[in-house]
Amino acid sequence: MAGSAAQRASGVLRAGADLVLPVTCGGCTRPGSRWCARCSARLADDPVLCRPRVPPGIPVWALGRYRGPHRQAILALKEHGRRDLVIPLGSSVARAMRTLARWGELPDAPRLHLVPAPTRTLSARRRGGDPVSAIATRTAQALGSRVSVAPMLVTAGAARDSAGLDARDRARNLRGAVQLRASARRPGPGSSVILVDDVLTTGATVAESVHVLASVGVEVAAAVVIAAA
Ligand SMILES: [Zn+2]
Repeated sequence: MAGSAAQRASGVLRAGADLVLPVTCGGCTRPGSRWCARCSARLADDPVLCRPRVPPGIPVWALGRYRGPHRQAILALKEHGRRDLVIPLGSSVARAMRTLARWGELPDAPRLHLVPAPTRTLSARRRGGDPVSAIATRTAQALGSRVSVAPMLVTAGAARDSAGLDARDRARNLRGAVQLRASARRPGPGSSVILVDDVLTTGATVAESVHVLASVGVEVAAAVVIAAA
C-alpha cells in the first residue's frame, strides 16, 4: 500500500514537472517556442553542394553543416522523440527543393518521387517510426500533388551500426545491406527520383542506395540531406 501511494505521489510530481517545464526550441533549446524564428532562418539558407568521400555519382545537396540547429534538431527528433520537429524539417527540405528547382538543379519532371534513405527497421520502430520517412512525407505535402513519397529501400538486419567506422568500412558495412523493399512499386515513366536523408557522413548510404535503385532500372537524379557532417 505504502509503495503504491509513493508511486502515485511520484506520478503526481512527474505530472507537475511536465507542467512547469518550459517549452524549448528544438534547434537551439531557447525557451519560449518549439521552433524559433532564428533556427527557422538558419534552415532556410540556400542548399550547398556536398563532396562526399564515397562519390555516389549524383549531386548531393545539404541544407547546412551538421552543427548548430541542423544537428540539434536531428538529434532532438531521433534521440529525444521531438516528433513535432518533422514539420519544420520537412518544410525546410521543401524550401530547399524549390530553390534547387529554381536553379535548374532538379529535373523538371511531371512527377517527383522522394525516396527516404533506408533506416534499420528495428531502430526505426524503437524510436517511434522512421524519422526520415516522416520528414519526406512532410516535404511532399508542402510541395503539392506532383510530389509523393516512395519508400522503396530498407536496410537489411545484417548491417551493423556504422557509428565509429571510417569511410571504407562504412561502405563495406553497407554493401548488400541496402535492399529493395519487397512491396516497392517502381515509379512510372516520366517521373524523377530524389533521395532524402537526414545526415550525410561519408556518402556510403547514398551511394549504395543509388546502386540498388539503378539495379532495378530506377535512376536517382539527386539527393537532398538536412545536414552534411
Ligand atoms: Zn531555435
